[in-house]
Amino acid sequence: MNSSLADTLRELFTTLHQHPELSNQEFETTKTLRAYLEKAHIRILELGAKTGVIAEIGTGSPVLALRADIDALPINEQTNCAYLSKTPDVMHACGHDVHATILMGAAYLLKQQEKHLKGTVRLLFQPAEENFTGALQFIDIGALNGVDAILGLHNNPNLTINQMASRAGAFSANVDRIEITVTGVGAHAARPESGVDPIVIGAQIISAIQTISSRTVSGLDAVIVSITKFQGGNTWNVIPEKVEMEGTVRTLTPEIRAKVKQQLATIIENIAIAMGGKAELRWFDGPPSIINVAEWVEFAQKVAKQVGYDIIDFKPQLGGEDFAHYLHHLPGAFINLGSQSSYSLHHPKFQINQDMIMPAANYLSQLAQQALIQLAQNR
Ligand SMILES: [Zn+2]
Ligand SMILES: [Zn+2]
Repeated sequence: MNSSLADTLRELFTTLHQHPELSNQEFETTKTLRAYLEKAHIRILELGAKTGVIAEIGTGSPVLALRADIDALPINEQTNCAYLSKTPDVMHACGHDVHATILMGAAYLLKQQEKHLKGTVRLLFQPAEENFTGALQFIDIGALNGVDAILGLHNNPNLTINQMASRAGAFSANVDRIEITVTGVGAHAARPESGVDPIVIGAQIISAIQTISSRTVSGLDAVIVSITKFQGGNTWNVIPEKVEMEGTVRTLTPEIRAKVKQQLATIIENIAIAMGGKAELRWFDGPPSIINVAEWVEFAQKVAKQVGYDIIDFKPQLGGEDFAHYLHHLPGAFINLGSQSSYSLHHPKFQINQDMIMPAANYLSQLAQQALIQLAQNR
């Protein structure tokens, strides 16, 4: 059975990789996943998702959710693999194709054990992770209704395929976007004293906000403030009236996030005032940081060890992951499994080692079965 499952999963992975779709456009991907679920007689829940699919195995409570994301990126693939993307400028460069494949593998294994399950496993094939909207869409349509806990995974190119990594507490970053407008008074470049130069103010602001990570928070708290766009003026001899900036702030905890937001506004507004101008900060909340529940991390590590993974300590990283939204509603954990790629996530040459698929599917299936027993005992 398992050699034929391996073949089925290799075929699914190839199909998904060759036909990547961008966030919220995963129509063919959804059709493919539904067909694989139907082939195994796995119950699909019709909750009205535009893309993505939700299914269930087993009956009654407790209910454990397993989540995989399914969307791809606007990147032109540059690997030399045999199953290249057939869609120009779209690529599964974050490995969401392998996440969906692993979850399908776990689903097939769980289906074989359906009679013995101590509750229900809900499968979330979630769209639109890359633009951070998919988890919220799924929560809105009721994907978490009745669920007691949730587990999710991401491949990690820096780990070998027998390595599992996770950690209790902060796992990914709060990913917030900022816009800053500095307003001065335009003038002739030769007579700056008759105006207020927003470019000089903007430059001071950029330098000053870099002190937040070194002077406002502890050296042990991670903070990144990156200004990634700076626009103002359109010729060489005129001081412009306005400068527009954009950037991102990355932090790990809600407390530091709030503190940085406050200090950023204070620095920006007051530097502008001190120099005779005006500045405004606009802050857009992105996904919060994943805060893993310690007991669920320990549980996932215990089962990983049982099925042969080496457990690696994970350092939190400052990327974003919309799985965080689920953990605002439910206990659970997010983990990494090694995909052993020579290139990083989102790189045009990113390529996973397919030998990770079967062990990961088996692990996820074990994890779900044991989690249901654990949840039932805790009642
Ligand atoms: Zn990604
Ligand atoms: Zn990803």
